[in-house]
Amino acid sequence: MTKKNGPDAALQNPLAPFNLYFSLNNGLSDAAPSLKRHLSKMKGMYADDAAFGRLLADGGDPLVYEFHELGIPESDGNLAFGTSILYPGKVGSEYYMTKGHFHTILDTAEVYYCIGGKGLMLMENPEGDWDVQPFEPGRAVYVPGRYAHRSINTGHEPLITFYVFRADAGHDYGTIETKGYRKIVVEQDGLPIVLDNPKWQ
Ligand code: ZN
Repeated sequence: MTKKNGPDAALQNPLAPFNLYFSLNNGLSDAAPSLKRHLSKMKGMYADDAAFGRLLADGGDPLVYEFHELGIPESDGNLAFGTSILYPGKVGSEYYMTKGHFHTILDTAEVYYCIGGKGLMLMENPEGDWDVQPFEPGRAVYVPGRYAHRSINTGHEPLITFYVFRADAGHDYGTIETKGYRKIVVEQDGLPIVLDNPKWQ
Protein backbone atom coordinates (compact mmCIF):
# COMPACT_ATOMS: atom_id res chain seq x y z
CA MET A 1 0.00 0.00 0.00
CA THR A 2 1.31 3.43 -0.92
CA LYS A 3 0.95 6.65 1.04
CA LYS A 4 -0.36 9.50 -1.06
CA ASN A 5 1.77 12.53 -1.44
CA GLY A 6 1.80 15.51 -3.78
CA PRO A 7 -1.00 17.92 -4.64
CA ASP A 8 -2.99 15.39 -6.70
CA ALA A 9 -4.43 14.13 -3.46
CA ALA A 10 -5.50 17.65 -2.51
CA LEU A 11 -7.76 18.60 -5.38
CA GLN A 12 -11.13 17.16 -4.42
CA ASN A 13 -13.37 17.07 -1.40
CA PRO A 14 -13.38 15.09 0.74
CA LEU A 15 -9.62 15.11 1.01
CA ALA A 16 -7.73 11.91 1.52
CA PRO A 17 -4.73 11.95 3.84
CA PHE A 18 -1.59 13.10 2.08
CA ASN A 19 1.81 14.58 2.80
CA LEU A 20 4.01 17.19 1.20
CA TYR A 21 7.64 18.18 1.49
CA PHE A 22 8.89 21.70 2.19
CA SER A 23 12.64 22.25 2.35
CA LEU A 24 13.94 23.47 5.70
CA ASN A 25 16.81 25.09 3.78
CA ASN A 26 15.00 27.21 1.17
CA GLY A 27 11.32 26.74 2.00
CA LEU A 28 10.42 25.43 -1.45
CA SER A 29 8.28 22.38 -2.14
CA ASP A 30 8.58 19.91 -4.97
CA ALA A 31 4.80 19.43 -4.86
CA ALA A 32 3.86 22.47 -6.95
CA PRO A 33 5.56 25.42 -8.64
CA SER A 34 5.75 28.51 -6.47
CA LEU A 35 3.98 31.75 -7.34
CA LYS A 36 6.47 34.58 -7.76
CA ARG A 37 6.05 38.26 -6.92
CA HIS A 38 8.58 40.47 -8.63
CA LEU A 39 9.10 44.07 -7.57
CA SER A 40 7.22 45.48 -10.59
CA LYS A 41 4.02 43.90 -9.20
CA MET A 42 4.27 46.12 -6.10
CA LYS A 43 4.18 49.53 -7.74
CA GLY A 44 3.08 52.23 -5.32
CA MET A 45 3.23 50.00 -2.26
CA TYR A 46 6.63 51.21 -1.02
CA ALA A 47 6.91 54.69 0.40
CA ASP A 48 9.84 55.83 -1.79
CA ASP A 49 8.65 55.83 -5.41
CA ALA A 50 11.95 57.26 -6.70
CA ALA A 51 13.94 54.45 -5.06
CA PHE A 52 11.42 51.96 -6.44
CA GLY A 53 11.92 53.32 -9.95
CA ARG A 54 15.72 53.24 -9.66
CA LEU A 55 15.68 49.66 -8.42
CA LEU A 56 13.53 48.55 -11.36
CA ALA A 57 15.73 50.42 -13.84
CA ASP A 58 19.00 49.11 -12.41
CA GLY A 59 17.99 45.81 -10.91
CA GLY A 60 16.03 44.09 -13.68
CA ASP A 61 12.86 43.55 -11.64
CA PRO A 62 14.16 41.51 -8.67
CA LEU A 63 12.17 38.65 -7.16
CA VAL A 64 10.81 39.92 -3.83
CA TYR A 65 8.95 36.83 -2.64
CA GLU A 66 7.46 33.54 -3.70
CA PHE A 67 4.94 31.26 -2.09
CA HIS A 68 3.12 27.97 -2.54
CA GLU A 69 -0.62 27.72 -3.08
CA LEU A 70 -1.52 24.09 -3.09
CA GLY A 71 -5.09 24.06 -4.33
CA ILE A 72 -6.78 22.86 -1.17
CA PRO A 73 -10.56 23.12 -1.75
CA GLU A 74 -11.83 26.35 -0.19
CA SER A 75 -14.31 24.99 2.34
CA ASP A 76 -14.60 25.94 5.99
CA GLY A 77 -13.63 22.45 7.09
CA ASN A 78 -10.30 22.48 5.25
CA LEU A 79 -7.00 24.13 6.07
CA ALA A 80 -4.93 25.93 3.45
CA PHE A 81 -1.21 25.88 4.08
CA GLY A 82 2.12 26.48 2.43
CA THR A 83 5.37 28.35 2.66
CA SER A 84 6.34 31.92 1.90
CA ILE A 85 9.91 32.87 1.01
CA LEU A 86 10.62 36.60 1.27
CA TYR A 87 14.04 37.65 0.03
CA PRO A 88 16.28 40.23 1.72
CA GLY A 89 16.48 43.70 0.25
CA LYS A 90 15.24 47.26 0.57
CA VAL A 91 13.47 49.90 -1.48
CA GLY A 92 15.21 53.02 -0.24
CA SER A 93 15.33 52.40 3.49
CA GLU A 94 12.15 50.28 3.54
CA TYR A 95 12.65 46.54 3.87
CA TYR A 96 11.32 44.08 1.32
CA MET A 97 7.83 42.96 2.29
CA THR A 98 4.89 40.97 1.01
CA LYS A 99 1.83 42.78 -0.35
CA GLY A 100 -0.16 41.80 2.70
CA HIS A 101 -3.88 41.16 2.83
CA PHE A 102 -7.03 40.99 4.85
CA HIS A 103 -8.99 37.78 4.69
CA THR A 104 -12.18 38.10 2.68
CA ILE A 105 -13.93 36.45 5.62
CA LEU A 106 -12.48 39.11 7.88
CA ASP A 107 -12.79 37.27 11.17
CA THR A 108 -10.54 34.34 10.24
CA ALA A 109 -7.14 33.92 11.84
CA GLU A 110 -3.86 32.52 10.55
CA VAL A 111 -0.68 31.05 12.03
CA TYR A 112 2.81 31.63 10.61
CA TYR A 113 5.74 29.54 11.79
CA CYS A 114 9.21 30.82 10.98
CA ILE A 115 11.62 28.25 9.53
CA GLY A 116 14.48 30.56 8.61
CA GLY A 117 15.60 34.16 8.46
CA LYS A 118 14.60 37.15 10.50
CA GLY A 119 11.81 39.67 10.22
CA LEU A 120 8.50 41.02 11.41
CA MET A 121 4.81 40.45 10.89
CA LEU A 122 3.08 43.82 10.56
CA MET A 123 -0.63 43.72 11.35
CA GLU A 124 -3.50 46.21 11.46
CA ASN A 125 -7.26 45.99 11.70
CA PRO A 126 -10.01 48.24 10.32
CA GLU A 127 -10.43 49.80 13.77
CA GLY A 128 -6.90 51.22 13.53
CA ASP A 129 -5.11 48.90 15.96
CA TRP A 130 -1.73 47.79 14.68
CA ASP A 131 1.00 45.49 15.90
CA VAL A 132 4.35 43.97 14.96
CA GLN A 133 5.53 40.53 16.05
CA PRO A 134 9.00 39.07 15.51
CA PHE A 135 9.99 36.26 13.16
CA GLU A 136 13.01 34.12 13.92
CA PRO A 137 13.55 30.40 13.36
CA GLY A 138 11.29 28.39 15.64
CA ARG A 139 8.93 31.26 16.48
CA ALA A 140 5.23 31.15 15.57
CA VAL A 141 3.11 34.28 15.09
CA TYR A 142 -0.65 34.23 15.59
CA VAL A 143 -2.58 36.61 13.36
CA PRO A 144 -6.03 37.14 14.90
CA GLY A 145 -9.15 37.61 12.83
CA ARG A 146 -9.73 41.12 11.42
CA TYR A 147 -6.00 41.84 11.10
CA ALA A 148 -4.34 42.46 7.75
CA HIS A 149 -0.91 40.86 7.76
CA ARG A 150 2.32 41.53 5.91
CA SER A 151 5.71 39.85 6.35
CA ILE A 152 8.82 42.04 6.37
CA ASN A 153 12.39 40.76 5.96
CA THR A 154 14.70 42.75 8.25
CA GLY A 155 17.62 40.34 7.90
CA HIS A 156 20.19 39.31 5.32
CA GLU A 157 18.82 35.87 4.46
CA PRO A 158 15.50 34.69 3.00
CA LEU A 159 12.67 34.89 5.54
CA ILE A 160 10.94 31.51 5.32
CA THR A 161 7.58 30.94 7.00
CA PHE A 162 5.01 28.16 6.98
CA TYR A 163 1.38 29.33 7.19
CA VAL A 164 -1.98 27.69 7.92
CA PHE A 165 -5.45 29.25 7.72
CA ARG A 166 -9.07 28.21 7.21
CA ALA A 167 -9.31 27.32 3.56
CA ASP A 168 -12.41 29.40 2.79
CA ALA A 169 -10.95 32.62 4.30
CA GLY A 170 -10.03 34.17 0.94
CA HIS A 171 -7.58 36.99 0.25
CA ASP A 172 -8.46 40.67 0.03
CA TYR A 173 -5.40 42.39 -1.48
CA GLY A 174 -7.36 45.32 -2.91
CA THR A 175 -7.90 47.17 0.36
CA ILE A 176 -4.16 47.26 1.03
CA GLU A 177 -3.34 48.19 -2.56
CA THR A 178 -5.78 51.09 -2.38
CA LYS A 179 -5.32 52.37 1.16
CA GLY A 180 -1.85 51.10 2.04
CA TYR A 181 -0.80 50.24 5.56
CA ARG A 182 -0.86 52.71 8.42
CA LYS A 183 2.74 51.85 9.27
CA ILE A 184 5.94 51.09 7.40
CA VAL A 185 9.14 49.44 8.65
CA VAL A 186 12.41 51.08 7.61
CA GLU A 187 16.05 50.72 8.51
CA GLN A 188 17.54 53.48 10.60
CA ASP A 189 21.09 53.25 11.97
CA GLY A 190 21.10 49.58 11.00
CA LEU A 191 17.95 48.69 12.92
CA PRO A 192 14.29 48.33 11.94
CA ILE A 193 11.93 51.02 13.16
CA VAL A 194 8.19 51.50 12.64
CA LEU A 195 7.06 54.81 11.14
CA ASP A 196 3.74 56.26 10.00
CA ASN A 197 3.18 55.53 6.32
CA PRO A 198 3.15 58.90 4.51
CA LYS A 199 1.04 57.32 1.75
CA TRP A 200 -1.67 55.89 3.99
CA GLN A 201 -5.17 57.10 3.03
ZN1 ZN B 1 -3.64 35.47 5.33
